[in-house]
Amino acid sequence: MSTLEIRDLKVSIETDQGTKHILKGVDLTINQGEIHAVMGPNGSGKSTLAYTIAGHPRYHVEGGTITFDGQNVLDMSVDERARAGLFLAMQYPVEIPGVTVTNFLRTAKTAIDGEEPSIRHWGKTVKDAMSNLRMDSSFAARNVNEGFSGGEKKRHEILQLELLKPKFAILDETDSGLDVDALKIVSEGVNRAHQETGLGVLLITHYTRILRYIKPDFVHVFVDGKVAEEGGSELAERLEDEGYDRYLVAQA
Ligand code: ADP
Ligand code: MG
Ligand code: MG
Repeated sequence: MSTLEIRDLKVSIETDQGTKHILKGVDLTINQGEIHAVMGPNGSGKSTLAYTIAGHPRYHVEGGTITFDGQNVLDMSVDERARAGLFLAMQYPVEIPGVTVTNFLRTAKTAIDGEEPSIRHWGKTVKDAMSNLRMDSSFAARNVNEGFSGGEKKRHEILQLELLKPKFAILDETDSGLDVDALKIVSEGVNRAHQETGLGVLLITHYTRILRYIKPDFVHVFVDGKVAEEGGSELAERLEDEGYDRYLVAQA
């Protein structure tokens, strides 16, 4: 069983106003097969955690460690992280002009597995995965993220998740901008990957809505760059009723 371990993580960025310290000592351990929700008010550092795990160059690690089965993730290139089995779905996915969804997925699959998937097999695999996500087959020929609606971007993320079969997925605000139907389809995709491959999930969200469809085993509440509280799924239910005010008052 694989484990992603974050220890006393401290992260800053450089801004026009100087160094901004965002993460101030985060501890988090995720085992394969577990679903963790990271929740918290806007600006608490949730996306910073996702970008740091992804290896975004803007985010400087000032202290602490991230390890994957004991290997130092912070030493790995972005590609190496993906090959090791980490999947990062970004809150604002980038456009890749001139690259179709099919080719993007095949290239990603080849990079991760170290060998090209058989062309015949691959076409059918992509088609089946797309139909599971109720995506129109014409989607495969479109350029990655070019003119994608919010819902299409999210479905494309989950399509990648189902095809690339990572060990861990970090999903940042996967629920934002989705209507209820799209939210259900996307959640089903995550649950499928969780059940079929034992995917470990770090589900980052401000709202509790998606947690009605994806049941977390653990909930971590971020406030001001630190974990302020942890619990099981009952904590998400409490946040649904009470919101984050309690933490913000305590902080002030
Ligand atoms: P969350 O995802 O919880 O809303 P973020 O990690 O996006 O929080 O942001 C945490 C804090 O760091 C916020 O105050 C935000 O404005 C700041 N921040 C994050 N990334 C940047 C950036 N690239 N440039 C300037 N400020 C940033
Ligand atoms: Mg489970
Ligand atoms: Mg965010």
